[in-house]
Amino acid sequence: MIDDHPVDTPWSKTSDEINRTLQTNSATGLTSEDARKRLRVFGRNQLTTTGQHSALHLFLSQFADWMVGLLIVAGIISGIVGDLSDTVLIVLIVLGNAVIGFAQEWKAERAIEALKGLAEPHVQVTRDGKTSTVAAVDLVPGDLIHVRAGDAVPADCRIVTAVEAEVDEAPLTGESLAVEKKSDPVAADSALPDRQSMIFSGTSVTRGRLDAIVTCTGNSSEVGRIAGMIAAATPGPTPLQQRLNQLSRQLAVIVLVACGIIFAAGILREPFERWNSKLAADMLLTAVSLAVAAIPEGLPAIVTVVLALGSQRMVARNAIVRRLSAVETLGSVNVICSDKTGTLTQNLMTVVDIIPAESLPSSSDSSTSGDPSVTGIMTAATLCNDARLDPDGRPTGSATESALLAAADHEIDIPRLYRNRPRVQEIPFTSVRKRMSTAHAADDGSHIVFVKGAAEQVLESVTSLGTLDSPTLQLTQSGELFRLSDWTDRAASLAADGKRVLAIAARQRSSPTSESLSAEQDESDLTLLGLIGIQDPVRPEAAAAIQKCQSAGIQTVMITGDHAQTAQAIAQQVGLLSNHATVISGQQLASLSDQQLTAQLATVNVFARVAPEHKLRIVQAFQARDDVVAMTGDGVNDAPALKQADIGVAMGITGTDVSREASEMILADDNFATIVAAVEEGRVVYDNIRKFIAYLLTSNVGEVLLLFLAVVINLPLPLLPVQILWINLVTDGLPALALGFETAERDVMTRRPRGRRSSIFGEGLSATVMIMGTVMAVLNLIVFFLLYDARTPDATLPAARTAVFTCLSLSQLFYVLAVRSHEHCLWQLGFFSNYRLAWAIVLGSILQVLLIYVPVCQRWFHTAELDIRQLAMAVSVAAIPFLITEAIKYTRQQTKATD
Ligand code: ATP
Repeated sequence: MIDDHPVDTPWSKTSDEINRTLQTNSATGLTSEDARKRLRVFGRNQLTTTGQHSALHLFLSQFADWMVGLLIVAGIISGIVGDLSDTVLIVLIVLGNAVIGFAQEWKAERAIEALKGLAEPHVQVTRDGKTSTVAAVDLVPGDLIHVRAGDAVPADCRIVTAVEAEVDEAPLTGESLAVEKKSDPVAADSALPDRQSMIFSGTSVTRGRLDAIVTCTGNSSEVGRIAGMIAAATPGPTPLQQRLNQLSRQLAVIVLVACGIIFAAGILREPFERWNSKLAADMLLTAVSLAVAAIPEGLPAIVTVVLALGSQRMVARNAIVRRLSAVETLGSVNVICSDKTGTLTQNLMTVVDIIPAESLPSSSDSSTSGDPSVTGIMTAATLCNDARLDPDGRPTGSATESALLAAADHEIDIPRLYRNRPRVQEIPFTSVRKRMSTAHAADDGSHIVFVKGAAEQVLESVTSLGTLDSPTLQLTQSGELFRLSDWTDRAASLAADGKRVLAIAARQRSSPTSESLSAEQDESDLTLLGLIGIQDPVRPEAAAAIQKCQSAGIQTVMITGDHAQTAQAIAQQVGLLSNHATVISGQQLASLSDQQLTAQLATVNVFARVAPEHKLRIVQAFQARDDVVAMTGDGVNDAPALKQADIGVAMGITGTDVSREASEMILADDNFATIVAAVEEGRVVYDNIRKFIAYLLTSNVGEVLLLFLAVVINLPLPLLPVQILWINLVTDGLPALALGFETAERDVMTRRPRGRRSSIFGEGLSATVMIMGTVMAVLNLIVFFLLYDARTPDATLPAARTAVFTCLSLSQLFYVLAVRSHEHCLWQLGFFSNYRLAWAIVLGSILQVLLIYVPVCQRWFHTAELDIRQLAMAVSVAAIPFLITEAIKYTRQQTKATD
């Protein structure tokens, strides 16, 4: 067994030395048994992180607020000078509140942790001679891995084979240009950036492909060593949370001033001879209780809980959110830029046309199986192809290339072809070049080059037609038959059917065989072998999802590397092209200025033949209009656009690691409809956040104003500290949380998006809070006024206070039912349709009755038994804010119906 530090300076060793020291095989990899054993010795391939929250830490953080500390201190003072039961009760209520807060935040943290697990990277590994995909955390030193453009490098590795490979090492070395990688050993004393024969954990492959042997995993990797213990990146507060933090601070100032006045006025209005420490302690406790109850410092934490709940619902609908802030942003998305392949279509590509160059350009039938010219094209399409047949004979690789292999499998013996015509060199496919080329050794020692790519890209360089008569290339020049425009037309007519069209060409190699293939020399003067048409059916749910976006005021834009006509046909099939919509090609895009582009956006639904860098411009152009843009991407070159977009959306199935890293959200099913579902959930979350903010702040305004007015008009305090705390921390807390579970309003996807600059308090929320808060305060003051008789304070004060305590508690429990929907009345929603809320209300009401009628509760909460008249008054007044809100909604519905 190899030891803890498996190999020194692996970059200077030859592959044989590496194989020996790491006891592995650079062709067949480790055995599974060996890999299992090594995993026990070396541990999982992950960086040990610090800074994760322990349960205790989370629980204690519930008390970290200085106002809570002050409350406990005030409780203790008042216990010393007066009533000890108050102190005990305050501590119990604060503890109860901490438990609720802890349970919710714990659940939210677990939800966020679980999301991280879902987005875990995987890597291609060969073990026991078989290549399969394993979780990157299970890699061990000695493993043989295969990475290609777009993959994250999962561990430090010594390169065995490098094909045109470049790696972005910026995260490790700060070098912004991609670095070329080779398999040749370098000097043992090379500095990190010069270790060309190594790839390092934390970097990513930007070009080509590599086979490599893992040398160090987890914390022993370079990135692990540099950082030592890497602190877990705790994401900062979301924009909404920042806004709420700011609001809490502003409100805290107002509440503290109000409480200061209540405290001072409470003392000053007493005759001087009654001033004593008990009076001061009582007033201090009242003021502090009110401050604790009314300052909404818990809002950002509840927002986390609601966002986490939203993210769980999104996972259930196949959208994995990587940052919590995305849940919030999703609700305001008003432009979705989507890839075509796999997102709007099924990514089930099938070759439906094979048109050999020998056939007359005017003939419409594709040639059929067994035709030697068809065999020739398919031979080229198989060799110039990175997809492979897995042990079960199924093609694996990109959908386009897999489709070609699947078609070729009917025509030719693929394994034999690989043996006879091994690939010696290649220029890989990129979305920018839209073609690839490979060189294969012929029997006479010369090289044949095959080129496969987007029809117009290849046809541009075609100068003759021909066939491939294996094993040697025979060109049949038939100048008089060959008109390039016939072939361009042919390609265009296939594209107009929504097919992806590839041209296949060949030539004898002209560049020296000892050198790399040259695009200039080896991709010019080509002989066209034929065209291939590939069909990819649209997703059945795409049209409905696009329709939904339209009614939700969201513009959908298709961005594709495919030909304009292919794109247009597909766009028509999914209902994306309305009468006025236009298609803009990458070429046209390049000629537009930023302003011109922004001006055209309103009518564009399709961008075709775009290069990845165009995506960034498109996002920026939309953002210049103040749009909130969701943009999909899968390739390594999509990363800048994904980062720039408000919501970068990566593909879970076909996407690269790099694109996933750059994105806010991952689609587990690559499906466009999932983005729309996530937007819908985002809107629901935002609605729910608004609802509980409205609810909590209305209650707070009501209480502060009630006490403030009472003191100003020289009434005794209508509520006592423990009653205030009870209402806010217990009666209010549970219904507010239950609001987070409210389901979608019926108009959630038929109203316009809320806009980038809209405030969470917009659309009348602040006015509602102020008005309904004032209504609650005034109503409760009236109840107090009716029941309290200044001539017989001892006889009437306890019942008057109890009636206000009950009325305020119940008015909040009733009011929450009206807050549930901004549109529908309770009887339209059903009382139990949010059963958590229903139970919170039932429980709150029962507890309230117990507090009034059970003798021990009466003692603890300073309540008195209410007679039936008093109780009836409290309950009926409590219903008024609820009834007013419902009546307003009903009237609005009626006026809408008559409009
Ligand atoms: P979509 O937006 O539909 O997902 P895309 O932007 O990913 O498509 P690319 O994969 O960049 O499109 O392909 C662009 C063009 O390059 C295709 O239209 C096709 O003609 C050609 N092409 C695609 N894959 C290959 C390949 N493996 N080899 C050669 N040419 C290819």
